[in-house]
Amino acid sequence: MLYGEIVESPPGAWLLRPLRVSAGATAELIVSMPEGLRFVAGLPEGSLIASGLGDLPYAAFGDLRVEKLRSERGSLTVAIAKARRRQSEEELLGWIRSSAALIARYFGRFPADGALPLVLPAPGNQIHGRARGTGGASFLFFLGTNLDPAQAHRSWELVHELVHLGFPSLPRRHHWAEEGLATYVEPITRARAGELSAEKVWGDLVRGLPQGLPGRGDEGLDRTHTWGRTYWGGALFWLLADVEIRERTGNLLGLEDALRAVVAQGGSIAER
Ligand SMILES: [Zn+2]
Repeated sequence: MLYGEIVESPPGAWLLRPLRVSAGATAELIVSMPEGLRFVAGLPEGSLIASGLGDLPYAAFGDLRVEKLRSERGSLTVAIAKARRRQSEEELLGWIRSSAALIARYFGRFPADGALPLVLPAPGNQIHGRARGTGGASFLFFLGTNLDPAQAHRSWELVHELVHLGFPSLPRRHHWAEEGLATYVEPITRARAGELSAEKVWGDLVRGLPQGLPGRGDEGLDRTHTWGRTYWGGALFWLLADVEIRERTGNLLGLEDALRAVVAQGGSIAER
């Protein structure tokens, strides 16, 4: 895909690789670029598993600002496509850094080391993202070049994509679990940082969740791939799980403790 001057193409699309490799073989990816241009990919540091070379996360070539954000709780490679936009690169970096900190706090650490958010220009006030696992963690983040920085800060989409990084990739029929989790956890992380009030979070749940209830002819979350069932039906599943964990443990533990255990054992969107 071409976004302005940036070519986005996962290495599986262009990387020459052996058809058969022995189990446990590792590989190293070396990309040289003409001066002034950069290559980025949402790959962990160190060697890659050779058998996974056909199936790698988002990667991009072009005129990119690339910054490694490091903290004791994990690193993040942020790539920002050079573009004329209302937000400065410093504002974008600060926003991504503080949003990643919310995620690290919820999951106990930043879930996917070396994860790549790739910020691409989009028309007007658009804002939306798309996450991809498989061999690494990455997401495309389309940001309207005309979007006011304060408005961007108030939006939910960036934190939503970051939540996706902390949960393993599931088969398509369980898509509701991934989207429901991002829908449910995003406002909670922001409320804990004081960005949203508890009233706002509960109000949105009360308004949103009924859209996730089964309608006539519903075949269950695994088979009913409507928007309402996927996002809000999934969110309802995780809310009920959270409440039940709290009931059974006298409110000592919550959903985040289950998710932290997954992340502590290396779980992330990079894992299937
Ligand atoms: Zn999502």
